[in-house]
Amino acid sequence: MARRHAGYPAMEVRLDVIRSNARVILDLCRGHGIEPAAVVKGFNAIPQIMDVLVGEGYRCLASSRIGHLAKARARGYPVATMGLRIPMRSELADVAQYCDVILNSDLGTVRLLDDEARRAGKVQKIVFMRDLGDLREGVFDSEQFVERAVFAAKDFANIELVGIGANLGCYGSVKPTVKNMQELARNASEIERATGRKLGMVSGGASTSLPMVARGQMPREINHLRVGAAIMHRREIYGIEEGELAELSDKSLVLSAEVIEAGEKPTHPVGERLLDCFGNVAVYEDRGVRRRVLLAIGAYDVGNCQKLDPLDEGVRILGCSSDHMIVDVHDSRREYRAGDVMSFGLMYQSMLFATSNDMIRKNFTR
Ligand SMILES: *Cc1c(COP(=O)(O)O)cnc(C)c1O
Repeated sequence: MARRHAGYPAMEVRLDVIRSNARVILDLCRGHGIEPAAVVKGFNAIPQIMDVLVGEGYRCLASSRIGHLAKARARGYPVATMGLRIPMRSELADVAQYCDVILNSDLGTVRLLDDEARRAGKVQKIVFMRDLGDLREGVFDSEQFVERAVFAAKDFANIELVGIGANLGCYGSVKPTVKNMQELARNASEIERATGRKLGMVSGGASTSLPMVARGQMPREINHLRVGAAIMHRREIYGIEEGELAELSDKSLVLSAEVIEAGEKPTHPVGERLLDCFGNVAVYEDRGVRRRVLLAIGAYDVGNCQKLDPLDEGVRILGCSSDHMIVDVHDSRREYRAGDVMSFGLMYQSMLFATSNDMIRKNFTR
C-alpha cells in the first residue's frame, strides 16, 4: 500500500551553502599544504551531499561507518575511501572490501587485517593512531607508538603503513596546539628514520584543527586533516574566534516541525513528581503562566532537543519526550497556532539523528 509521506518534520538541505563551505575549507587547507578528507558520517552519507563534495574536488571520503563507504563506492566516485574508526575484528572483511585506507591502533587487529587483505588479493593501507591526550583511540605512550608503527610498517606483507594520525577534541575535549601537533610530527620523523621510508600522511585531526591552519600555526609536517562538522556548520569549529573563517556558514541544514497545540500553561508541573520520560530528575523554573507550543518532533528525531538552534530568536526550547517538543514562545513576536511551522538550525547531535531518520522528509536546495 503506497502511503503519502506526511509533510513534517522536514529538513531542508542547502546544497549551495554546503558547496560554498566545502570550497572554503578545501582552498584553505590546500593553500597550507594540507589535503583534507571529507568526513560524511555526520550527515549519514546523504548521496546528494557526497555528490557536492566530490564535485568540489575532495579526493577522499571518510567515515567511521563502513556502510557509508560502501555507499560511496556504489556511487562510483573517483575518490579514495577512508575508515575512521579503529576496526572491529568482526568487520575486517568489509574493511578490506570498502576502505582504501583505515585507521588502526592495535597490532593484533593489524595482523588479522593482513590475513584479510591477502584473501582479498590487495595491500591494505593503514594509518596508525597516536593518542596525544584526548584519551579516545590511539597508542598513548610515544615510544610504544613509534615501536608499534614501525612494526606495522615492516612486518606484514599485505599491509602498507601510509601515515600516522591523531584525534583531539572528542572524549577529552583536548585542543590541537602547536605543542601536540609538533609531537605528532616528531613521531613521524622517528618512524621515517626507523623504516627508511617517507610517510605520505601525517593527519593532524578534525574540524577543530582548522583554526590553527587559518592562523598559519600548523607545523608544516602536518599534511592531512579529516574534516566533517566544519563543512556543515561554522559553529562546530570549537575554539574559532570571531572573524576567523567568516566565509563559513551555519545554515546548511534547516529542520522544520509543525505546531500541534498552542496556548498558555503554567511553567511548573502540577502534582506529585516522579521522573521525566527518560528517567531523569528534571528541574523546572517557575516563571508563571506563559505562552508555549507543542511541536510534533522529539528525541526520536533529534536526540537531545537542546542541540537545536531556533531560528526565531524569541523562542526557547523547554524540553522534549520521544515524539513531542515543548517550546516557550512567550517572547516571540509571532503568534503561533496549530498548523504553523517552526524552524531550527542543527548542531552535530541533532544533525546525526535527523539526517539518518527517514521519517523526516528531505528537501534539497541546489
Ligand atoms: C568523526 C571523525 C572526524 C571528523 O570530525 P569532525 O569534527 O566532524 O570534523 C575525524 N577523525 C575521526 C577519527 C573521526 O571519528
